[in-house]
Amino acid sequence: MARYIGPDCKLCRRERQKLYLKGTRCEGPKCAIEKRPYPPGEHGRGRIRESEYLLQLREKQKARRIYGVLERQFRNYYQEATRQSGLTGENLLKLLERRLDNVVLRGGLARSRDEARQMVRHRHVTVNGRTVNIPSYRVRAGDVVAIREKSRSAQPVVGALEIIGTRTIPPWLSTDQSKLQITVLDLPDRAHIDVPVQEQLIVELYSK
Ligand code: SF4
Repeated sequence: MARYIGPDCKLCRRERQKLYLKGTRCEGPKCAIEKRPYPPGEHGRGRIRESEYLLQLREKQKARRIYGVLERQFRNYYQEATRQSGLTGENLLKLLERRLDNVVLRGGLARSRDEARQMVRHRHVTVNGRTVNIPSYRVRAGDVVAIREKSRSAQPVVGALEIIGTRTIPPWLSTDQSKLQITVLDLPDRAHIDVPVQEQLIVELYSK
């Protein structure tokens, strides 16, 4: 599966806010947005002409970057969200939140989304006892996501274990730290999706 492989900090600087893409580094003084809080590039510090379209575009790009999803896949999520009942914007975020790499991150078993994705890709993660190596795999209520017994001494699992117990786990997940296991208690509610995204602007962009 294709993914963005450029510098993460440039993405935050483009959105002019922390997207927390690099784990513990994001909390420290080395965070690029603390040092250079303006967009990257030659004209980064120039004046930007604000427009409705720009606001909508930036919101969509921000959501895409937070979840590490490329444009085509993001649009597919959007199309699926439009076919569901309820608010399209909320449906979109709920679908993104149910990705397996996101669950590993939110459940506190990885320091960053890239690390969570790597753990899945490298077959360190199981769902209901079966190895799943697809980061976009969609979890359901009742699923049990775990780190494989054999993988506990593997990188990046060892690194990720340093932060275990330090994260706030959303109420739709439950983490058993001793078993390195996350239970999906329920599907996520919008109120429990802690991302700084105004999803209505994304819907407006794609509805043009
Ligand atoms: Fe963004 Fe983290 Fe880089 Fe800071 S350190 S700019 S929050 S990815």
